[in-house]
Formats: sequence, structure tokens, C-alpha cells
Amino acid sequence: MEQVAANIAAIRGRMKKAGDDGRVNLIAVSKMQSEERVRAALGAGHRLFGENKVQEARTRWPALKREFPDVRLHFIGHLQTNKVKDAVALFDVIETVDSAKLAAALDDEMEKQGRRLPCFIQVNTGEEPQKGGVIPSRLPALLDECKKLHLEISGLMCIPPENEPPALHFALLKKLAARHGLKDLSMGMSADFEKAIPLGATYIRVGTALFGERQ
Ligand SMILES: *Cc1c(COP(=O)(O)O)cnc(C)c1O
Repeated sequence: MEQVAANIAAIRGRMKKAGDDGRVNLIAVSKMQSEERVRAALGAGHRLFGENKVQEARTRWPALKREFPDVRLHFIGHLQTNKVKDAVALFDVIETVDSAKLAAALDDEMEKQGRRLPCFIQVNTGEEPQKGGVIPSRLPALLDECKKLHLEISGLMCIPPENEPPALHFALLKKLAARHGLKDLSMGMSADFEKAIPLGATYIRVGTALFGERQ
């Protein structure tokens, strides 16, 4: 699995070329990838990973986190309130808060577990009905709700529509984060991370370019 180590090195090189001066964190999106490939990334010293399903993450990461205690895991999928308990126990950052109901459930569970995780709000910048995330006009109200709770919102995350130039969406997310004084921007995937970096990404989420095609 030298390929994964080579891919990580290549991505780091492309990040630098795109303007990364050390500010950008590379999240290795390990959903639907073999344990062998994940171990190859760990073997190459990589420690930041992302998963989009609580159930799937639970089959792998509790054991791997015991073995590699410095692993940090971002949740990047749609979070149902009935999975909040497992998500808070396993993940280190929740990137996809998109409703007051979910924010309240997360706040409750973090209180119960004594485990306060930083969260991002997912913004549906393309206002696509089938996609998760809060639409931009509802972001201020959701941020207000989170402020009333103890939920720490440190950034915004988006997944641009497939058929539109992603840069427009990255620029919008950057503008929204600046307006609300939020420092983190999770944007850019395998196909478009080089466009997200000059627009201020602090986290990019890369799956196939790092691990190869998903199984
Ligand atoms: C799967 C996934 C990614 C990674 O996608 P690639 O195109 O494989 O890099 C990034 N973000 C989210 C939210 C995902 O679900």
C-alpha cells in the first residue's frame, strides 16, 4: 500500500502549489475504503480522517483510535438525532450541524458525556432540496440557536452542487464565515480542493484522490 503514501505526498504537493502555507488541514475521507488502505495512511503518519456514516465508522475507529490515540475524526455526513450519542462518543468534530433540533440534541449529549466537541454548520450553498445543510438565509438564526446552547461553532462546511462551478460556492461560504466571525472553512474534495484553498479553506476533505476508488 505504498500507493496511499505516495498519494498523500502528491496531494500535499498540490496543496502547496494551490497556496497552502500550512493553514490547510487534509482530512482523509475513509468511508467505504479497506482497512488495509486506512492502515497505509496511518503508517504514513496521517492522523486526520473523515467518515460520513456513524454506523460504518463504529465498525473500525474505536479499535484504531485505541491503537493510534492521536487520531482525530471528523463527522461529515448527515447526522440523525438517534445517532447523536454514538457520534459524540466517537468523533472529535461534527461538521454537519444543520438544524436547531440537531444542535439541541448534540448539546444535550455532550453535556451528558462531558465531551465538548467543536462543531461546524453545514451550509446548503446551492439550496438543493435533496441536500443537507441550512440554506444561507437561515444561517443567522441557527447560529443564534447554537449560541443559546453551549455548542461551540468554529466554522462552516459545504458541498457544492455537482453541475456548478464550485468556486462560487466556496466564495459564498468564505463570505458567510467572515460575516459571522467563524475561523474554519471545510470545503474542497478530490476534484476541487485546489480551487477551495485560494478561497480560504482550512480543511479539505479528500477521499478517492488519497485512497483510490471506493469499494
Ligand atoms: C465522500 C465525501 C468526500 C470525499 O469525496 P472524494 O470526491 O472522494 O474526495 C468529501 N466530503 C464529503 C461530505 C463526502 O461525503
